[in-house]
Amino acid sequence: MSRFWSPVVHSLIPYVAGEQPAMSDIAKLNTNENPYGPSPLALEAISKAVSDTLRLYPDPTARGLRAAIAASYGLDKDEVFIGNGSDEVLAHTFQALLNHEEPLLFPDITYSFYPTYCRLYGIEFREVALDARMRVRVADYRQSCGAIILPNPNAPTGIGLPIADIETLVREHPEQVVVIDEAYVDFGGESAIPLVRKYRNLLVVQTFSKSRGLAGLRVGFAVGQRPLIEALERVKDSFNSYPIDRLTLAGAIAAWEDRDWFERHRALVIATRGRLGIALQALGFVVLPSSANFVFARHASKPGADLAAELRSRGVLIRRFSGARISDFLRISIGTDAECDRLLAALDDILR
Ligand SMILES: *Cc1c(COP(=O)(O)O)cnc(C)c1O
Repeated sequence: MSRFWSPVVHSLIPYVAGEQPAMSDIAKLNTNENPYGPSPLALEAISKAVSDTLRLYPDPTARGLRAAIAASYGLDKDEVFIGNGSDEVLAHTFQALLNHEEPLLFPDITYSFYPTYCRLYGIEFREVALDARMRVRVADYRQSCGAIILPNPNAPTGIGLPIADIETLVREHPEQVVVIDEAYVDFGGESAIPLVRKYRNLLVVQTFSKSRGLAGLRVGFAVGQRPLIEALERVKDSFNSYPIDRLTLAGAIAAWEDRDWFERHRALVIATRGRLGIALQALGFVVLPSSANFVFARHASKPGADLAAELRSRGVLIRRFSGARISDFLRISIGTDAECDRLLAALDDILR
């Protein structure tokens, strides 16, 4: 606390990111990074961009990357917005599109950055409870609201919602913006991007951090019809003209175009997830069905806090959240097979 703080700073509850430890020789399964990659073609493009041209500002409109993404979906580049990580895209979205008279709706168990943005921008929100099986029920969103945001698959449960349910939600709220945060969609979810043509109130957000193995580069994007994208551009150009630097632009375009790397490595993550889920069940865990690059699992008898601490002392980092229904769950990122084996060996030792 300081007398120099602006009033809003006193009321903030900042998001706490997963630990980025200094120590080596750990199995880092706590922040859903990709254990592979990034694409060698992305690294090559970044190396090439390390040149005298760094004295020049980057393209403030990230034209090349927007065009590459738009082309994949048969959209216009003006229907794509790029940000410094999808967290920045989301931040601009909250300010530009989700701040209305009526409260914003999102699940009671979801990405914990959402309430943080609400406090930063003074947005009223109402949490909608997941059902007994920890699923989003779109019928529960039939209430008056200013806008809706949800991740699909949801975080930290990993449970995906069928595209038909997303379409119902979008169709039932024609006067509200519905934002679908698809950070994990490439690991088994169904993207809502094909619905963008049909619905003017739908905004879909994705990231390069997980399925493209580029969390360190910081790139995310949103897809939507022109008026929604223009709102994001207006906020961005009132905040930072150049959120995407030259190295990032070069690397992200190359990563986007390396379809082969993307397909091979997401298949590896999905295969390891299947194997890990079965092994965890054999150790006495209840494992929620995951469409993401992590699993959310609770042991039948051992408290989550104890498990997390004992794993840590064995060099295995996982993420745990406080909160009524989820404090005994561990969110375990899908690592390499070797990392998952190390986790399983540690759990075997702890639970013996
Ligand atoms: C990881 C994540 C993001 C943010 O990713 P960036 O690294 O900022 O692109 C956004 N939403 C959800 C639900 C996430 O899990």
